[in-house]
Amino acid sequence: MKEVNSGDVLSLCKRRGFIYPSYEIYGGIAGLYDYGPLGTQMKTNIMDLWRSIYALEEGFVEIDSDIVGPEMVFKASGHAENFQDLMVTCKLCGEGFRADHLAKDFHPNPGALSKKELGELIVRENIKCPLCKGDLSEVEEFNLMFKTKIGPGSGRIGYLRPETAQGIFVNYPNLYRYMRETLPFGAIQIGRAYRNEISPRQGVIRLREFNQMEAELFVDPVDKRWPRFSAVRDNKVRLVPNTDEVEIETTFGEALDKGIIAHETIAYFLWVTQRFLTKAGVDPKRMRFRQHLKTEMAHYACDCWDAEALLSYGWTEIVGIADRGAWDLTRHMQYSQADLTAFKRFDQPQEVERKAFKPKYGLLGPEFKARSAKVGKALEAADISLLKDGKVELDVDGEKLSISDKYFDIVDVKEKVNGVKFVPHVIEPSHGLDRILYTCLEHAYTLGEENYVTLNLTVDAAPIKVGVLPLMGKDDLDKKGMEIDRTLRERGIATYFDDSGSIGRRYARLDEVGTPYCVTIDYEVFENGTVTIRDRRTTKQVRVPESEVVHVIEQLLHGRPFEELIAKV
Ligand code: AMP
Repeated sequence: MKEVNSGDVLSLCKRRGFIYPSYEIYGGIAGLYDYGPLGTQMKTNIMDLWRSIYALEEGFVEIDSDIVGPEMVFKASGHAENFQDLMVTCKLCGEGFRADHLAKDFHPNPGALSKKELGELIVRENIKCPLCKGDLSEVEEFNLMFKTKIGPGSGRIGYLRPETAQGIFVNYPNLYRYMRETLPFGAIQIGRAYRNEISPRQGVIRLREFNQMEAELFVDPVDKRWPRFSAVRDNKVRLVPNTDEVEIETTFGEALDKGIIAHETIAYFLWVTQRFLTKAGVDPKRMRFRQHLKTEMAHYACDCWDAEALLSYGWTEIVGIADRGAWDLTRHMQYSQADLTAFKRFDQPQEVERKAFKPKYGLLGPEFKARSAKVGKALEAADISLLKDGKVELDVDGEKLSISDKYFDIVDVKEKVNGVKFVPHVIEPSHGLDRILYTCLEHAYTLGEENYVTLNLTVDAAPIKVGVLPLMGKDDLDKKGMEIDRTLRERGIATYFDDSGSIGRRYARLDEVGTPYCVTIDYEVFENGTVTIRDRRTTKQVRVPESEVVHVIEQLLHGRPFEELIAKV
């Protein structure tokens, strides 16, 4: 088997209608791609597979939130401040570049360098514009979010979402109520995300508009067990732990027992991810989970793993699975003042100690006069997590007041309570749909003798499930073919009917787009009532009665091995 390169895969994608460069008639735009007829169907199939796992099997609820959001949401999420890459601009041709990309030949890990260090390295090594050799600007930060205005005139600043996750976090109170106020619960969202990447490269791996499938699981911070984990613990997995960065093969259970994976819930969702990816068509021999290095992990994350696929571009992140702690909900609580907590009722009332605001009434009096008692009461009742930059925002009689820390102390108080309020922790499996789809294509691509291309797509991902091929477009063979084609379609099976050209060429065209089975109707149908089913993987054929063909195809699509059919004949 010959080595695959991304150019071959992308050229097949364009030729056969999977993926087209966007706005091609106007010269195209880097980082934007359209899905063609087969790509759109394959994308839908992968989404459906993911949905069936998360929504049906795991019981997550699905939402569909806005793409555009107000600035405050992204201030709370940290994207307005921190979601940026370092860039330089060519003073001659005006083209922008990621500073770390230009520095890659001069430093082993340029991504880890600061703005100042990158600037110094560019001057020291006399790095020039790779396009026109012009001088480069100073290194500057570039925020990756697409900015817009909501409404006319001065409007409100808005952003296109850089991830679908925020739509779930801001809906937490609605979802918590919908889930009848019990944890754990999970919500999923599939949709577009936008990142104004500085220099998108590598085909559909780094896009400016892409598709995410994100799951947010809200859990009790003191209970990260997962009952169903025991059923999957003996499955094998390839891990690259952050301790020595050496790949190991182990089981999920062993990795958990040895403390490599932080807890059962993360371990369980690593397994769910592995199962989903292999069903979609990622080659298990070319995938692994890499744990983020301590320096790479967000400061709030307790544990973080990337599912990586080996592509012609090298090991590439296709899914990220992180325990994000209480970060997201706490930040949205601080910025929105909404209550994003959960409540856990105790079996018996318990005495608990908590931190609370203790108003300094001596100072509140002169400042707030008649309202000082109400301000004091509101402070006593306020949750300590609302404290931000030495201030707490309070709602007093419908008016928003910002109270600075000179008006209160923070003290420990003891009280008898029926339960506790807490900010749930979030465990997030975040999937890049376009990267997964591309991985399935590249891993399926096989180049045989005489440049014969077969896409070994899985049944789940394949856009066309069955080719229906009458040997001739005459002598009633075509009529028989059309009948079989209609019946398959009525059963919800995507077919492709083709009655022209040599049968070999027709097989080749269907193999090239990953069609798992073909039904061929030849003259024997009139002699003994049989047609053939051809299996793409082995190219073997088996004759079955015409009356049974739809039933047999359904069985094959549901996982019955083709070999079993051959053995039966
Ligand atoms: P992140 O929020 O950066 O962890 O991204 C979540 C997932 O989205 C990643 O695992 C990738 O598969 C995918 N992703 C991130 N950035 C891009 C991009 N620019 N183009 C395509 N997919 C992306």
